[in-house]
Amino acid sequence: MYLSKSLYCECVQCNKMLWLNKHYPEEKQEVANSSVLDNGTEVGILAKNLFGPSIDIDFNQDLNKMIEDTKKELTKEKVIITEASFNYNNNFCSVDILKKDNNSYELYEVKSSTEVKDIYLHDASYQYYVLTKLGLNVTKVSIVYINSEYVREEELELDKLFIIKDITDIAISKLKEVENKIKEINKYMEQKIIPKDDIGMHCVKPYDCPFFKYCTKHLPEQNIFNIRGMPNRSKFKLYHEGIYDYNNLLKTKINNKYKEQIEYELYDKEPKINIDKIKEFISTLSYPLYFLDFETYQQSIPEYIGIKPYEQIPFQYSLHYIEKENGKLLHKEFLSAPNIDPRRSLAESLVNDIPENVCTIAYNMMFEKMVIKNLAKIYPDLSNHLMNIYNNMKDLMIPFKDREYYTKEMYGSYSIKYVLPALFPNDPSLDYHNLEGVHNGSEAMNTFSNLGNLSIEEQQIVRNNLLRYCELDTYAMVKIWDKLENIVKERSETNGNRYRKLKK
Ligand code: SF4
Repeated sequence: MYLSKSLYCECVQCNKMLWLNKHYPEEKQEVANSSVLDNGTEVGILAKNLFGPSIDIDFNQDLNKMIEDTKKELTKEKVIITEASFNYNNNFCSVDILKKDNNSYELYEVKSSTEVKDIYLHDASYQYYVLTKLGLNVTKVSIVYINSEYVREEELELDKLFIIKDITDIAISKLKEVENKIKEINKYMEQKIIPKDDIGMHCVKPYDCPFFKYCTKHLPEQNIFNIRGMPNRSKFKLYHEGIYDYNNLLKTKINNKYKEQIEYELYDKEPKINIDKIKEFISTLSYPLYFLDFETYQQSIPEYIGIKPYEQIPFQYSLHYIEKENGKLLHKEFLSAPNIDPRRSLAESLVNDIPENVCTIAYNMMFEKMVIKNLAKIYPDLSNHLMNIYNNMKDLMIPFKDREYYTKEMYGSYSIKYVLPALFPNDPSLDYHNLEGVHNGSEAMNTFSNLGNLSIEEQQIVRNNLLRYCELDTYAMVKIWDKLENIVKERSETNGNRYRKLKK
């Protein structure tokens, strides 16, 4: 069986993944694949300069060509090679950075993560195995990863951005383990019928497996893996005890929140609305009302002064506001130009758009508060105003998080992406699927990151997509708030109060 370092690591997680990949690739589902993120190309390219000039082995479909090119370079006494490629007994690997000094070799595996995960040790140990089996004297094995505490100054300092962790002892200690694992994989892959391996924590750790749906197809549709918020460990424990369908779960001792989700879905229960609590929440809001939502993106390699790797950088916001009761719904927005540090102009725009001492509403306000606090820290001249906004924020998520308002269509979630369609199932103006190009936060992040690479005409279209997406986020908040208001008003109406409708 031909193996590469990524296929080997896949098998460290679960042999069946490789088997299914070979025999049933069409069953693979899309998952947010953090294994791809860990090997971020941008970081890999930058890390190549870590030890000075290097020779790059170009990728070639014909791996033998890469191996031959590597051999030629290795005739030099001293050389640094990136993507140096080797094959021992059908076990192939390309080493991110290989330093050769006479007869000694140092192997560096580059990751865009901010920590050394266990799976990286397997990855590097596999490469160490291949190289040593080929007779190379590997004296050092290291993982290169990102220093999350690094703060960018005028110049990017690679020696501070990257941390190099020496794992030579671990690689040596794993040599036998790698050899045995390769034998095990080869034997496993000889199986002609679908292996019977059961699901377990290995399906979600270190990465979500793309075959999870396939491997759980024997379960009833309403099963434990749909329960929101329950830790994976508890789910698999109950599953292995044979308790996984909703009826059985109700008979077992589980948290009331999980039971509630099950009961609502199983018995098709009517929405739960705790009017007193909603009234109490609504009474904490006062006009003028400002509905705020930020979009942010992250850079593994910080491009701007004062930024840390993966720090949330705000580049856009949408703001709906209503100045007084029965007032008109108004809207303002900000979207940065690409390829510039967006923070100063966004902060200035924000303090222009939101006056001091007004009630600013966000959905899951911890995020918006974190962004505002960071801006206040770096811009002392705007700090008072920004912190005033910060201190006057209210969280529209609370009634849903506390399940004061709950429907079966929320499926145990209080995320706005579940709450909104549950409250407004037939409103196309609130359906994110109807938007062009950008439908969620990660698409917004990726779209903005790529904006500078587009033509002016393309940028205009994409900018419009971003603006419409963010606008829908705050419009959705307005509609949710309005729904809560109306519920309270309807109740009060029975006491003789006037019913209010939102003016658009
Ligand atoms: S879902 Fe689990 S058992 Fe199935 S292939 Fe993936 S990791 Fe293996």
